[in-house]
Amino acid sequence: MSKVWVLTEWSNEGPLGVSLELLTLARELAEEVSAFSFGGDPSSQAEVVGSYGAGRLFHISGLEDTLPAPPVSTVMASKISSGDLPDVILLASTYDGRDVAARLSAKLDRPVLTNVVELTKKDDRLYSSHAVFGGTQIVTATITAPPPAIFVVRPKSTTAQPSGGGPAELEEVGFGDLGATGAAKVVSRHIEEATGPKLDDASVVVSGGRGLGNKESYAMIEELAKLLHGAPAASRAVVDAGWVPYAYQVGQTGKIVKPDLYIACGISGATQHLVGMKGSKKIVAINKDPEAPIFQVADLGIVGDVHKVLPKLIEALSSK
Ligand code: FAD
Repeated sequence: MSKVWVLTEWSNEGPLGVSLELLTLARELAEEVSAFSFGGDPSSQAEVVGSYGAGRLFHISGLEDTLPAPPVSTVMASKISSGDLPDVILLASTYDGRDVAARLSAKLDRPVLTNVVELTKKDDRLYSSHAVFGGTQIVTATITAPPPAIFVVRPKSTTAQPSGGGPAELEEVGFGDLGATGAAKVVSRHIEEATGPKLDDASVVVSGGRGLGNKESYAMIEELAKLLHGAPAASRAVVDAGWVPYAYQVGQTGKIVKPDLYIACGISGATQHLVGMKGSKKIVAINKDPEAPIFQVADLGIVGDVHKVLPKLIEALSSK
């Protein structure tokens, strides 16, 4: 295995954490790592991807009003048809990553493995692990089709570590006529206003569940998160009830987080929730039911009513 391609994704603040994780993973798999990107400032991107071990950065330009997946998959597929064949393509389990993977799979007629939580190399073959049945079972898969093997990897599957390398060699790449796939245009962009750390990167996460009882009580979660310089989060029950947006959801169908501290408030601890937070370094659970499954993964359990415990915690921290 010699060549790995990584699709990196960027926000206004810089690379997504998962993109740096993928570059780190790619370095462990092959000697030659190339990154792809779109939007943003290509020169600073070349520095960042280089410092995570990529030798080349292909920056796809001219995407201002085009959805990313059609041009990105077109550029990757045409590079491959012109003879630049990677062994592996790594994409993040994000909206754009999944979209590019599906299009690539169809264009190249190659299988794609999604929801990867671990990727290991043995005897020059890659094995991917996938959490199934709400994270209660892990299955291992491998691709036997000719390269490239396409993997869509979940965030937090590995820890991002810089390699200390210099800037990657930058190449601007355009794309031709996208035909019907280019017909959808981006007409406006909305940047979600947020204060405090992002849920994906926060070292403290305070998460609320149905046990809060109503939307108004969720304000306690936000307040505690702010006092601890952390990010607020929620179980799916809370998201489904419309108390907070989907971006707050932790779990199998939400985000996977691994903070230093995860405080679960009024959350039962269903396996679909645990799969998103059980990798946290320390878990504190507040639940009025001493038999709640969340206590099985908690380092510290508080059996009590969130409406009594949370105000006390907030009061104690506010007076500091
Ligand atoms: P509940 O299970 O209703 O638990 C509420 C808890 O609050 C109880 O333990 C109760 O004892 C406690 N409580 C009640 N009142 C108080 C009080 N006053 N003080 C203290 N404690 C109190 N769930 C996720 O979270 N994330 C996912 O990504 C996710 N994906 C799913 C995917 C699939 C395919 C399926 C089928 C389900 C998924 N779920 C997910 C849903 C999951 O199964 C649970 O239904 C959900 O996690 C329950 O949320 P909860 O713990 O907030 O609510």
